[in-house]
Amino acid sequence: MARSQPAAAEADGRARRAAATTCGWCGGPITPRSRGPIPKWCSATCRHRAWEQSRAAACDQAAVRVVERHVQIRVPLQPTRRDWPRLLTELADQLSDGRVYDRDLPGLARALQPVLQAYRSRARTTGAPDVP
Ligand SMILES: [Zn+2]
Repeated sequence: MARSQPAAAEADGRARRAAATTCGWCGGPITPRSRGPIPKWCSATCRHRAWEQSRAAACDQAAVRVVERHVQIRVPLQPTRRDWPRLLTELADQLSDGRVYDRDLPGLARALQPVLQAYRSRARTTGAPDVP
């Protein structure tokens, strides 16, 4: 009887070891080990997450705090033909009141030149008003 006791305990240990196949946190597979403590988690990350959760539960707080906040983001849209007069007027206003910096003027000149060329080219063929 005394000799069968360790054998029963060993068999019980093997059964418990074999049963520990899924992670207690993520449900992922646990790589079984032949000796040492029976693992409960698949990785150090899952062990840490479980520890955080239990610690938070101990102080009656949720481990994860969900913060909901509405943030408005201006999404630049592709301007359509009806937007251009208003946008160009806005550009003129920004140039006049200094919202466009001096350092931005060369880049603006490089962008305006092909616009004017394209406009004049279209105006010649269609009879639209010319821009001096
Ligand atoms: Zn896991």
